[in-house]
Amino acid sequence: MRQFTSRGLLAVVGMKASQVGRCCPQIKQFMIEVMDTTTTIEGVLQRRDKILVALTGASEVFLRGSLVTWQENVFQVIKDVGHRLDVGRVFVCKHNEVTAEHVITSLRYAWQATGDVTQMDVPGLQQIHFQEAGFGRWAGKLYEGGVVSGRGVQIPQHERTWFVSSDVQTLIVVPVFVEREWWGLVGFENYGLEGNWSEPEIEAFKTFGVLFGAAIRRKRMEESLQHEQQSVMQKIKQIEDLAKFTSEDPLPVMRVSYENVVFYANRAAQPLLDSKQVTVGGTVTGDWTELVERVREKQQSEEIDHEAAGQVYSLLFAYIPDEAYVNVYGREVTREREAAVIKTQFMAMASHQLRTPLTSLRWYSELVQQKLTEADAEVKEMVDIIHQTTVKLAELVDDLLSISRIERGKVELEIVQANLGELTREIVSDMKVQAQTKGLVFEVEVAPELQPFWFDPKLIREVIVNLVSNAIKYTPDGGRVQVRVTLGESQVLIEVEDSGMGISEGDKQKIFGRFFRSQRAVESGIDGTGLGLSVAKLIVEKCGGRIWFESEENVGTRFFVTLPYRKNL
Ligand code: ADP
Repeated sequence: MRQFTSRGLLAVVGMKASQVGRCCPQIKQFMIEVMDTTTTIEGVLQRRDKILVALTGASEVFLRGSLVTWQENVFQVIKDVGHRLDVGRVFVCKHNEVTAEHVITSLRYAWQATGDVTQMDVPGLQQIHFQEAGFGRWAGKLYEGGVVSGRGVQIPQHERTWFVSSDVQTLIVVPVFVEREWWGLVGFENYGLEGNWSEPEIEAFKTFGVLFGAAIRRKRMEESLQHEQQSVMQKIKQIEDLAKFTSEDPLPVMRVSYENVVFYANRAAQPLLDSKQVTVGGTVTGDWTELVERVREKQQSEEIDHEAAGQVYSLLFAYIPDEAYVNVYGREVTREREAAVIKTQFMAMASHQLRTPLTSLRWYSELVQQKLTEADAEVKEMVDIIHQTTVKLAELVDDLLSISRIERGKVELEIVQANLGELTREIVSDMKVQAQTKGLVFEVEVAPELQPFWFDPKLIREVIVNLVSNAIKYTPDGGRVQVRVTLGESQVLIEVEDSGMGISEGDKQKIFGRFFRSQRAVESGIDGTGLGLSVAKLIVEKCGGRIWFESEENVGTRFFVTLPYRKNL
């Protein structure tokens, strides 16, 4: 493009400038016009280049974000551009509202060649209603992505009085869009006095608007990134705080991998680590490894008591689904355990002491019963009550004794080879009368392939008697009680099923607790001590088995007991 200078053109037609005067008037006129045009082209290109250079400077400031604040960047850019282009004034307006009907804008940044003056605070230039202020022409053009430009006289009078200084020669205003939203505008006053702007110049100015939009977009992205960074930092802090939460926990917390490596231990867990002679990162040995293995295999948490530094801790080895470690939560229970021992000892002593007098009471009441004649009917009734009460008391004392003996390890298993099928049938036959009195269907079923095996028949009898007597007690007249003995691969399953009152959801957790009796059982006037199932659980677990149940209120209950099927000792 540079070759289209006036001299270049003369060279093309083979003339010198001085020769132009010697041409005929038409050619002379034509040549002058051509020379004018080419001079203008040259000027236009120079001016466009100036704009582009100014733009480069602006993009450096904007896109590198070299200054501290966005505001500083904008001032720097409009000042640079203003200087480089030799403009009288540069102003930037940001819209507050843009709708199809109206545009409301405010002057945000301004620079003047006479000095760095910002007019941001000028109240008259805030919240300007474009259409009402007579700038509808601007709104229409800029909204479409066009520019508003003109030389002094071409600018309508009312626009001049509003926005532009009175000595305005030229004005060019370009829109700023940010992601298709019309953000605002940038205007340049008193620039390029030589003539109307050419397309390249207008395009260059428009590019400035585009650059401004890109800078705002970048600023927004930076802000949202910063915001995200802040929220990430906040989350990290929360996580760190949470991590501190466990380290500050006064109760011991540890994490042990399935390879028995201690990943983590808080301060309170130190005595436990010391007792195991292990540090974080080290490997635990002994009973803990067996426990970790069991939790992993059974996918069930387990609790143990552990002694460390003269204290007793209850440790819960918690199963964590989908992870290759267990969390260990500790609780210091020294006093609790001491109290429990004292309680059991007291129970043992009290029930032992009660047993002898109760037995003699029972005997004597039976003796008196026998000695009484028909005539003593009233006395007999009273003695009957004494006898029944004594029997109940004796049963309670027996249960208490069983519990305390098992708990204190005073019960030795008497494992013999016995026939569980026969034992079950015997129990059922003994209890037939009770079932018949209530009109129950009472059935027993034993797997024919069940062979005699090694177990403690005395203790297991106690368990079955308790379950069957419960089934009878808690089933209304005319119901059904079924006892089944089946054979699994390595264990025997005893089932006692009834169609009775069932156990409510809320009671299910408490059923094996000592002295627990459901409200409904108590309200129905059914006798009981609330000890039978806790004794049964202690016995079954001592025998290496498991006890559990399924129940639905008003439908029935099914108790399950498993025992190891040991054919040989
Ligand atoms: P109890 O001497 O009261 O029967 P247990 O320990 O044997 O004591 O049972 C505890 C409680 O569990 C009972 O009081 C009763 O509320 C409930 N229960 C036990 N077995 C059954 C059953 N088969 N059906 C409904 N509730 C039962």
